[in-house]
Amino acid sequence: MNFRELAEYFNKIELISSRLEMTKILAELLKKADSENIKKIVFLCQGRLGANYEKTESGLGEKMVIEAIVKASGFTKKEIEKSFREKGDLGLAAEEFCSQKKQASLFSEELNVKKVFNNLIKISKTEGTGSKESKLKLMAELFNSASGTEAKFIARIPLENLRLGVGDPTIMDSLASNLLEEGKQNKQWIKEIETEMKEKKIKEKNWKEELNRKIKLKLREKIEEKYNIHPDLGLIAEILKKKGLKGLKEIQIQIGIPIRPTLAERLNSSEEIIKKLGNCIVESKYDGFRIQCHKDGNKVWIYSRQSENMTEMFPDLVKAIKEEIKTEKVILEGEAIAFNELTNEFWPFQITIQRKRKYGIDDKAKEFPLKLFVFDIMFLEGKNLMNETFTERRKALKDIIGNGNTVALTNFIETDSAKKLDEFFEESITNGLEGIIAKDLNAKYIAGKRKFAWIKLKRSYKGELNDSVDGVIIGYYTGKGKRTEFGLGALLTAVYSEKEDVFKSIAKIGTGLTDKNLSELEKILKKISSKKKPARVESELTPDYWTAPKYVIELRADEITQSPIHLAAKKDGKGLALRFPRMISIRQDKKPEDATTEEEIKKMYEKQGKKE
Ligand code: ATP
Repeated sequence: MNFRELAEYFNKIELISSRLEMTKILAELLKKADSENIKKIVFLCQGRLGANYEKTESGLGEKMVIEAIVKASGFTKKEIEKSFREKGDLGLAAEEFCSQKKQASLFSEELNVKKVFNNLIKISKTEGTGSKESKLKLMAELFNSASGTEAKFIARIPLENLRLGVGDPTIMDSLASNLLEEGKQNKQWIKEIETEMKEKKIKEKNWKEELNRKIKLKLREKIEEKYNIHPDLGLIAEILKKKGLKGLKEIQIQIGIPIRPTLAERLNSSEEIIKKLGNCIVESKYDGFRIQCHKDGNKVWIYSRQSENMTEMFPDLVKAIKEEIKTEKVILEGEAIAFNELTNEFWPFQITIQRKRKYGIDDKAKEFPLKLFVFDIMFLEGKNLMNETFTERRKALKDIIGNGNTVALTNFIETDSAKKLDEFFEESITNGLEGIIAKDLNAKYIAGKRKFAWIKLKRSYKGELNDSVDGVIIGYYTGKGKRTEFGLGALLTAVYSEKEDVFKSIAKIGTGLTDKNLSELEKILKKISSKKKPARVESELTPDYWTAPKYVIELRADEITQSPIHLAAKKDGKGLALRFPRMISIRQDKKPEDATTEEEIKKMYEKQGKKE
């Protein structure tokens, strides 16, 4: 496929704010893509150069992209910088200057997707001395042959700021809708769906549409199942293109490829938890960071909750995993937390999080050694354990985890008594932990989903919601008075609607922001701000600047209230909002789609203040 054609699709998608429309155009694009290009096209739609868990940073900053535009267009650095300042988007500046290049080059050629993708990959892989020049040359080569529209997107991809607003769920919906004809051949599905539709007395005039919708949902489920154990939509799209739905069988759990994590639900009290789960395992909730560890003989991978490869950050854990886990091939999960060996106490989260770093790794590892508390296992010696019960998985864990220096099992009790659960909860709090997580003994490992297999209970602070909310920043207001110097006064935040794959406003936050927070935030937000409401954002409030939904912040609030101005969980003209929201931290370990969901907010609202 020509890159021009892809850029035109991107142009169309960029202008759309309706998600349905976006899904339709994306489906059309993916239908057109041939099997050689589809993987690359999916990655480019995601604004990436590889699967979600692959590191593909370009190492190109704005300065170098500007230099490349200078080289290809013949305009001066000053002219380009001025346009960038005015437009706030280097993509738009690239578009302006590459559409009116001063010098016609002999080496100009028509760009195709493969060429652009390969150059960008080369840019990301070039390292060491002379790499700056090579990167610049590869980038200038692309601008040299690019039209204005093509240049806009070529500039944005290595800066990780594509601005299409396409989320993974939308890509999955588009892939599903392209499989409709194949889905219709599945007699079993049709039978099930038709029976359900008859029961629901669906009218004849709506019959076909509803049938197609339900088939697409089934297809989407099949795709998502694979995405959850192998989060590589490029590969999934390629297999679907080559082999159709049956090809998905090829995608299995694989050591080295992260599984999307299972997530915890909330309940308000030990009584509610016991009522829901009966006899269950109750584990301490350690306040560190979650890691998924993969071991294949002497090779170890460590992934974050976000499926980012963090192996290099934790040499101490890698060593301990090799030495202390008594098996060859395994995928397991646990919470890593810094431990103070002098006092025999856990360090608070603010200390543990310092271990997530790119530089000074060894020194920090000595200063704040980590302990890994293992709580689940998904794969053991060639066998997928995800469909086993938690009881079985726990048994498997016991066989391979001893009481090592660094790796140990979580502290737990098994009980069906709310009183015992409460006692264990208090003990965990006294030991400086966050609370407990109760686990359903019969549940499978449910990748990528928040289900009642795990239920968390945290300490509630007086007059506050007993859990924090992770909101996505969708815009900001410029400051007044003292804050003017930072240019940032308040933030507009949203929660995520999983069903619709959009972000709906929930709170405007002016407090809890320290000056340090403010200037840090302003820097990163400025790069993704615009005067136009981004795709997939729903808000009736209009901030001074919109920002693409990218950053997640942790919020505390007194309660959730109904509000006529916010759109989260809107019903009968009223949405839900946070009352007295305060920012606690920037959650760098969360993607916007991992923020608190609209569904969760609704549940938190309903449960608020209720005690059984
Ligand atoms: P999310 O549920 O989206 O992960 P979060 O990151 O804000 O949200 P919580 O919901 O408060 O975290 O709690 C779930 C997290 O608790 C897990 O992702 C894991 O990192 C951590 N955790 C600590 N101890 C345990 C344990 N024993 N079992 C499972 N998870 C634990």
